[in-house]
Parts: sequence; structure tokens; C-alpha cells
Amino acid sequence: MSTHEARIDAVRGWVDAAARVVVLTGAGISTESGIPDFRGPQGVWTKDPQAEKLSNIHYYMGDPAIRKAAWQSRLTHPAWTAQPNAGHAALAALEARGKLHALITQNIDELHQIAGNSADKVIEVHGTVRKVVCMDCGMTAPMSVALDRVRAGEADPHCRACSGILKSATVSFGQNLVPDVIDRALRCAAEADLFFSIGTSLQVYPIAEAVDIARRAGARLVILNAEATPFDHLADSVFREPIGTLLPQLLR
Ligand code: NAD
Ligand code: ZN
Repeated sequence: MSTHEARIDAVRGWVDAAARVVVLTGAGISTESGIPDFRGPQGVWTKDPQAEKLSNIHYYMGDPAIRKAAWQSRLTHPAWTAQPNAGHAALAALEARGKLHALITQNIDELHQIAGNSADKVIEVHGTVRKVVCMDCGMTAPMSVALDRVRAGEADPHCRACSGILKSATVSFGQNLVPDVIDRALRCAAEADLFFSIGTSLQVYPIAEAVDIARRAGARLVILNAEATPFDHLADSVFREPIGTLLPQLLR
């Protein structure tokens, strides 16, 4: 058995022995579904630093031109055509085995739910792009309805109830996280006996702390990411292979 195979085998043993697996995912699990990440080599911000403005709440609220550009970019968001990949499927299978305690995701694409993970296991710390929210009255509605309005000619559709600014129901940069959601995620991390960090550069706080919280509570830690993360030195095992290939092997 090669060292690599032995390391895969060890992780399988940890999964077999675990009762409460907690998984944290980031944009890297969805790149093989055709949704680029932000900070990887092909990342949206790596290639176009200006694109960060479309995700910044202050620019968005203050500048109609930024909102118009944001709506145009939502029309062609890769999430609308993306399908879950083998990595998402492996996590759905982990839940079917009864092992999954919580699936904390920074992703906004809902591919975990589409792959078959139940909504009550998925903790979306950055919200979802499949809904819109009114920034004034808090009304939420399906994204598809707002996109139909953009296609029909409204460059910057506003709330039908109160005329407030509409935005995707995601947590933009400069916007506060939802405290209850973060609390639940960090509490679940503390309850893990095995923790996977998958496809995230672990640069966004406080959620990156989930890794350390799980570790200090006694969980084993496995990190899967193409690039190094600030938490690699804490991990029991670190893998750099493509998630869609490796994760199904680890969770077989
Ligand atoms: P990130 O862009 O900071 O990091 C992604 C990491 O995944 C990178 O280090 C990259 O090397 C790695 N990676 C990419 N493809 C991989 C693969 N196939 N196999 C192994 N590793 C791979 O992503 P983040 O930490 O999630 O932070 C970005 C933020 O932007 C998130 O908080 C999220 O809200 C948002 N975002 C979401 C999506 C989505 O929903 N799919 C996409 C882009 C950005
Ligand atoms: Zn409103």
C-alpha cells in the first residue's frame, strides 16, 4: 500500500468510527460543477479585482450602476445551470449513512441540497443566491421572479411591497452575518468527533474558527484543498487532490 493509499485508508477508518461528522465546505467544492471560486488560481477576484465591488454592500446600496451590473451578472450566474458533482454526491451519501451531524457551507449555490442533503443539515452561513431579499422590509422571494423582471426590462428591480432595494439573499462583504446561523454552525463544530474542511481557503472569519473549535473539542481534522490553508498544521491529514476525485474515495 502506498503512503497515499494508507492515508486514504486511515480517513475511512475515522469515518467508520465517527458518530458525528461535521463538514465545512467552500467555493472549491463547486468549481468542478462550473462555478468559479473567488481566491483560487481561476477565481473571480483573482482574475478581476474590480468584481469584488459587486459583492460589497456599500457599493451596492450606494450606486445604481453597480446594482444594474450586479443584476446583469446574476442573469448569467453559473449556479442556474450547474449540477452537483461527485464531491457533493459523496456528502449526500455520508448523510444517508447516518454519519452527518451538520454541513456548514459558505456556498450560496444550494448544490448540497440539490445533491440530496436535507435542508435541516445544511447551515448556509452566507445565505443563498436562489432568493432575493428586500433591504428595507425584509421580504424574500424567489430569485427567478426578480430575474424575469430584469429580462423584461427593469435594470434594477425594486421591492413591490415597499420600493426598497432588492439584493440576492446572500451575505455580501461589509454586511453582518446572521448571529443565530453562525452560533449554530460553531456549536455544531464543537460537537463533532470528525471534522472535514473542504474546498475553502479558510480566510473568512469567524467561520474559519469552526476548524479550531472542532479541533480543541477533540475532533479529528481532515483538510481537502488544492492550496495551503492557515489551519493545515492543525490537521490530522491534509489532501491537495481535486475534491470530486478524492472525496468519494475518502467517504466510500
Ligand atoms: P475561496 O475562493 O476563498 O477558496 C476556495 C479554495 O478551493 C481555494 O483555496 C482553491 O484552491 C480550492 N479549490 C478550488 N477548486 C478545487 C478543487 N476542485 N479541489 C480542491 N480544491 C479546490 O472560497 P471560500 O473559502 O468558500 O470563500 C469564498 C466566499 O465566496 C465564500 O464565503 C462564498 O460565500 C462565496 N462564493 C461562493 C461560491 C459558491 O456558492 N459556489 C462561489 C464563489 C464564491
Ligand atoms: Zn420591501
